[in-house]
Amino acid sequence: MAKEDAFTRLIEALKVLPNVGPKTAQRMAYQLLQNNRDGALLLQQALADALAAVRHCRLCNTLCESEVCALCADSDRRDDVLMIVHHPVDVSSMEAAHCHDGRYFVLMGYVNPTQGMDLNQIAIRQLVERLQTSHITEIIIATNFTAEGDATAYVIHQLLKDLPYKVTRLARGMPLGGELEYVDAGTLAQAVYERRQVEDKGV
Ligand SMILES: [Zn+2]
Repeated sequence: MAKEDAFTRLIEALKVLPNVGPKTAQRMAYQLLQNNRDGALLLQQALADALAAVRHCRLCNTLCESEVCALCADSDRRDDVLMIVHHPVDVSSMEAAHCHDGRYFVLMGYVNPTQGMDLNQIAIRQLVERLQTSHITEIIIATNFTAEGDATAYVIHQLLKDLPYKVTRLARGMPLGGELEYVDAGTLAQAVYERRQVEDKGV
């Protein structure tokens, strides 16, 4: 089979972006090559720079440009409470709500119950490593109140239930199907303050 031409390969490459199908990718490719070649060069450089510089924080697994991110390096935060979230944007929401002064762990994904509960979608190995090198007594599972968030919370609880941690989950004061990212700071803070201990039978 002949090698695809450069334009086709660009369209294929653009389809790696979330919510970008073939038609949108084609429009983007035309826009970059026809109307905005300077923008395309900026994009090329920014992507190369970010790929070279950005990595996972050794402690919380978020993306950062040093071995340990600023929140993990902050010595004023509590070391005994660890909050587990899906995504770096959830850390931002929690920080904006000023309701958690402990540490974070970022799963960088969620378990999808409709696609076989694939644990490779979340950073389980990194979480286990994090727990082995810490003084944590309470773990707050702060996954979204969606099917994926509940499935992820269940998996995490199964992992932790025989270990000597108090395991809590955010109170269900949040809207059903609620994603932390879209919940206002007051509601989010309330859900953290009213968090409840997870029972042995599940979440
Ligand atoms: Zn960190």
